[in-house]
Amino acid sequence: MERTLVIIKPGALQRGLAGEVISRFEKKGLKMVACKMYRMTKEKCAEHYAHLLQRPFYPWLERAMMAAPVILTCWEGKDAVEVVRAMTGATNGRKAVPGTIRGDYSMSGQENIIHTSDSLENAAIELKRFFNEEDYFPYDTPLVDFLYAPDEKE
Ligand code: UDP
Ligand code: MG
Repeated sequence: MERTLVIIKPGALQRGLAGEVISRFEKKGLKMVACKMYRMTKEKCAEHYAHLLQRPFYPWLERAMMAAPVILTCWEGKDAVEVVRAMTGATNGRKAVPGTIRGDYSMSGQENIIHTSDSLENAAIELKRFFNEEDYFPYDTPLVDFLYAPDEKE
């Protein structure tokens, strides 16, 4: 099973959407295996958004990511990276398709509710960036047979 990172951004926390976001992934059938509140630092933000450091809007993005705590979550499931990314929607909330999280809750290219890993490789790097081994709480899910066919449980 794959693991992917979802960061519930400060804007979502302020707007009372953290539960809604978590609920959507839960209802989909993904399994939350790590969750912690965290205050973003300048250093971690620069590392996480290294591909955007030179963009003129980076100072605004940094401010937005540090404006309130974030909630770091790790979700596990078959093809979890792709599934979560599809549920996230396009970066700009105004362009994101309705039914996606950004499509339903965001009007902005910056204030877009969540961060989600965009590849399996980046998911591994990002999870290491924010979680230690002891942050994970693996557990059995008795409903697994009702979520997956026998050949989908790997
Ligand atoms: N962002 C922004 N303006 C832009 C592009 C991105 O403020 O023109 C912010 C936005 O919050 C986005 C984050 O930078 O979620 C990371 O950008 P990326 O291109 O990696 O988009 P994502 O992977 O989050 O869809
Ligand atoms: Mg990205």
